[in-house]
Amino acid sequence: MTTIHNLGFPRIGARRELKFALEAYWKGESSRDALKAAGAALRQRHWNDQAGLDLVPVGDFSFYDQVLDTSFMLGNLPERVRGFHGDALDNVFRVARGRSAQSAETHAQCCGGVAAGEMTKWFDTNYHYIVPEFTRDSAFKLDASPLLAQLAEAKAQGVRAKPVIVGPLTYLAIGKTKDDSDKLDLLPRLLPVYAELLDILAAQDVEWVQIDEPILVTELDADWQHAFNTAYHQLKSSRVKLLLATYFGQLAENQYLAANLPVAGLHVDAINGREDVLPLIGLLPSHKVLSLGVINGRNIWKTDLNAVLEWLAPLAERLGERLWIAPSCSLLHVPVDLASEQKLDPELKSWLAFALQKLDELRVLGTALREGRDAVKAELDANRADLDARRASPRVHNPKVQAAVARIVPHLGMRESAYPKRAPKQAEGLRLPAYPTTTIGSFPQTAEIRQARADYKAGRIGAAAYRAAMRAEIERSVREQEALGLDVLVHGEAERNDMVEYFGEQLDGYAFSQFGWVQSYGSRCVKPPILFGDISRPRPMTVEWITYAQSLTEKPMKGMLTGPVTILNWSFVRDDQPREASCKQLALAIREEVLDLEQAGVRIIQIDEAALREGLPLRKSQWKAYLDWAVESFRITANGVRDETQIHTHMCYSEFNDIIASIAGMDADVITIETSRSDMELLDAFDDFKYPNEIGPGVYDIHSPNIPTQEHIVQLMRKAAERIPAERLWVNPDCGLKTRQWTEVIPALANMVAAARKLRAAA
Ligand code: GLN
Ligand code: ZN
Repeated sequence: MTTIHNLGFPRIGARRELKFALEAYWKGESSRDALKAAGAALRQRHWNDQAGLDLVPVGDFSFYDQVLDTSFMLGNLPERVRGFHGDALDNVFRVARGRSAQSAETHAQCCGGVAAGEMTKWFDTNYHYIVPEFTRDSAFKLDASPLLAQLAEAKAQGVRAKPVIVGPLTYLAIGKTKDDSDKLDLLPRLLPVYAELLDILAAQDVEWVQIDEPILVTELDADWQHAFNTAYHQLKSSRVKLLLATYFGQLAENQYLAANLPVAGLHVDAINGREDVLPLIGLLPSHKVLSLGVINGRNIWKTDLNAVLEWLAPLAERLGERLWIAPSCSLLHVPVDLASEQKLDPELKSWLAFALQKLDELRVLGTALREGRDAVKAELDANRADLDARRASPRVHNPKVQAAVARIVPHLGMRESAYPKRAPKQAEGLRLPAYPTTTIGSFPQTAEIRQARADYKAGRIGAAAYRAAMRAEIERSVREQEALGLDVLVHGEAERNDMVEYFGEQLDGYAFSQFGWVQSYGSRCVKPPILFGDISRPRPMTVEWITYAQSLTEKPMKGMLTGPVTILNWSFVRDDQPREASCKQLALAIREEVLDLEQAGVRIIQIDEAALREGLPLRKSQWKAYLDWAVESFRITANGVRDETQIHTHMCYSEFNDIIASIAGMDADVITIETSRSDMELLDAFDDFKYPNEIGPGVYDIHSPNIPTQEHIVQLMRKAAERIPAERLWVNPDCGLKTRQWTEVIPALANMVAAARKLRAAA
């Protein structure tokens, strides 16, 4: 009998109930009890939704972040937040958000406000966790009460509970030391706390505990491999059975290690790590459970159930009771319920599965394995019909696009001339001063802009009125920039709700859900567009706005586009072709836009690749393959222009050391990057590499409302000029300004322009 189980459920709620409950509480509009009740209601509902499973995850719910909850459970809190004597939940918010929560305000005098914990991406997902902080003196102390409370609640509801915890090695691996100590030195202090926790769970009659160790799908050096053995040998005396869960990729060289750890079961990602499975079965001691993640927990497509069964049936035969099946990872990374979607095209909808539908697929697979396929014949046939329709659909396959991709030749990604030859031609046409000033693209998305867009979407105003409102905003941005004396202007992106959605909405091959929200961090969610078919651009997307903006000024106006890699990385993408293939299609579509902009007389075109780094595979050995096609896609997009046209790109992160060769390989004339918080030190990577083209190192942090002073900007740029020749430097903020107010933007940019003038005068 195959066991079916789940690794985690999206806690935000099908209608983002958790988000609204949290935000109401933070604003002081509702009580802590109301918030807790909202959480309990969601847990109850989600456990009900999972009632068909043999084992249901408990402890996957969190009001903010499960990693932060783990830090609280292990008593590993940064010094600055200790000694808080308010409610535990408020303390969680204090660490997460940095500001004191509603009722914590009263503690402002005694135990004060604190800086927010640092956030970073959970492996290669778009979920952000609060980074655990360590020092050589870190000590741990168990507080299992929140987990036990959830467990008690689940039991009262008759749930077959399987508590879920973050494993000790992953917990250490994803944290940061604040001194230069070795995190592994903390393991001997950490393990007794885990052992104590497992004993407590055993005392609650828990049979299985899921212990997540996704770092097993990354490259581990010998110390960490060794630490795995130490840790799990120490934890094995516990009476609970451990299901060691790995996901997001292949175990590869960690297979032997994972198979032989002294745990009762192992979960592997059979979507990304299918090749692991057969060798693993050979390696796995015969008493161990093997849980196969056969349903993709990272995408929104229906599973090919018949194909999975074809593959699973012989394994089920071999493994018998020892075979479990589940989604590949927690369903945290997919939206909750496809049934909520009222506006999706029915055909496309018949190809999709969100969390609840994925659990249903799991049930069908489980029944087929237990009772034979005939027991679920209708479901399996329907699934086959839907998938066949998708495979054959002309909405998915566009022969013209495929032919264009097949015709891609290296020459498509090459500029006419190398940078040293084209740069003077650009300089002649643009006539920019030294230290030219510019911004990254967006200006404040004001309440009026949002109102106009909402009115337009709701049909309260027509297309002409909307267009007029956006034009008025563009004009305002242009006037402000002229008054400030900026050298290269932007139109301000008033018409864009989001830098990916805006393009997705205009490309064929994209669809949008109404409720396809996925938690990004805390109460924040994203709704990734769905790339379902071959991508083409039926008509120009930005040309009208940019040429209008250019018509208002003599100064050069930057055309503003989002690059193919970023569009890809921020979408749900196809599972029927490699990411690379979708990226190339996007590249060709955006290339057409680039050429149309050039044709319309736009002399500078910026192609943002904010998410290029995010796409890096978890294993370093796979970076090169990704970077090669990502860079090639960018080059195809950008490099069809004449020498005189200047290509900019923008990346808002601050780690370039390990990818600098690829960044240089993009061959953009100008790259603008986030640097202000690193005090220009990150330019060392560009300096050491002898980065050959122009750079605009961000001179102020747009995330902060603080106005940078002229002196500070001058100082930063002087540091930049120590590393990069002054004639190749631009002056700009770190990123777009859409989240700021005009009252912040104007003085900040005024200081930036004044700083540039001072630098020129001194040169
Ligand atoms: N051009 C975009 C903007 O200014 C870039 C945003 C980003 O890099 N995330 O908003
Ligand atoms: Zn940015």
